Amino acid sequence: MLNYAVNLLIVEEKAVECQLPNFFINPDFKAFRVFRLDIFALVKKSDIRVLNISMRLLSLKPYPIQKTLCPQCGEKTVFSSEVFFQGIHVLKDCHCQNCDLDFWETLPTGHTIDKPLVVNKANTELIGIVEGNEWLAQALIRSLDFSESESIYIQRDIRRSSKKIILLNCLDDCFGHVFNKLWNACFVEDGYEIVVLIPSQCAWMVPDEVAEIWTVPIEVSEIGKGIPGLHQQLKGLLEQYEEVFLHPAFVHLDHLKIPFDKILKTSRFPLPEFLVRKPKIGFVLREDRFWLNSSFFEFLFLVSKKFKVFELFRPIFLWRQKQLVVTCAKLLEKSFPGIELYVSGLGNSGTYPKRIEDLRVDQILSEKEQERISVYAETHLIIGVHGSHLLVPTGLAAGYININPRYKTAHWVEDTILPYRDRMQQFLGRKLDQKSSPSLIVHHIKSVFENFEYVWRRLNEAHSEK
Ligand SMILES: [Zn+2]
Repeated sequence: MLNYAVNLLIVEEKAVECQLPNFFINPDFKAFRVFRLDIFALVKKSDIRVLNISMRLLSLKPYPIQKTLCPQCGEKTVFSSEVFFQGIHVLKDCHCQNCDLDFWETLPTGHTIDKPLVVNKANTELIGIVEGNEWLAQALIRSLDFSESESIYIQRDIRRSSKKIILLNCLDDCFGHVFNKLWNACFVEDGYEIVVLIPSQCAWMVPDEVAEIWTVPIEVSEIGKGIPGLHQQLKGLLEQYEEVFLHPAFVHLDHLKIPFDKILKTSRFPLPEFLVRKPKIGFVLREDRFWLNSSFFEFLFLVSKKFKVFELFRPIFLWRQKQLVVTCAKLLEKSFPGIELYVSGLGNSGTYPKRIEDLRVDQILSEKEQERISVYAETHLIIGVHGSHLLVPTGLAAGYININPRYKTAHWVEDTILPYRDRMQQFLGRKLDQKSSPSLIVHHIKSVFENFEYVWRRLNEAHSEK
């Protein structure tokens, strides 16, 4: 079980109204847990010992009436008596009796675990300062406008029945976020079963230990536009259970503690064979973010995004990226005769020379994904531009070179999961600037192969001395 450091307060035997802000106790219960000042899960006293949960779960059934502040008039006693399943977020449904404001407030899960987003229900406009969460807030607002869309139906895969569940919501419009949230499913709590809610494209990754998989047949990239019908369906499904907790869906778990073979169903590259196997290098490319190695093209990319004319310029960026990859491939073939090269990733515009195997796809299909990703586990080094599409490849390959656009520097640690505990982490996981030329990339690749034997030997000597 993961050991999250949280302040735990258990109050027993009597129902009291706590003086803490944003907190209210349902008097029908005699005992409860407080996990943070503004977050709590309500459990029956008899279940405390069995539950033994040290993470910040949120009770949805029973749904404890929660007290929150009115963002408009400052009223301190606004109550929420139900939730709204929006898709990426689960929202507290609130009504202020003082100023009559109806609003939603995100529950503390996923990317809103620290700061809630608040939306005026009347006009679906944000209330309050977003403070750097614009990308999150915009997606939330956009997703609330699907009044004329047809319902999308959840499909259930029941592996084991249970009346007490923890719902892990992995819905997100970014594959990396879905993947990160799913890591939480590797850890099951005694007495409770995990139910994973996930886009169908990603269902293949759900660990076997999960009791139920609820898949939503919608492309990951479309989830930001909202999932019509989701709320009513989830509300109906949850009726069937005695107790339902909402998992906080942590997005930055320690990757060294995650058993990736449970998720990726494939063993990673065996390092002892690094110098035995024929060199294999893969370029994992995207069509919405590029390796450009040019101040001019980087500027053009950002401007085209800002003024929403990106599609007009996309062919230019694709051409530039291909030029760099092909140049890199030529240099690699000179240094490593017989090297195996491929391009992979989502989006298959244009063609590459035949000596570079083309493994790109135009869409992710859950039933074929496991086979598609197996090539990463045979790859010495993955070359790619910072982004979530590198998570799976870097979870399977021996190492990577990650080209970082400067606008992604704040997200430095998010897109790779090389799981080494020693200096192999730095040796085989290299991050280079956006202005990295093909010759610089090849310089690093050559350096890895030339120095691997020495580093491997030294590190293993150290292990054997313990
Ligand atoms: Zn108010």
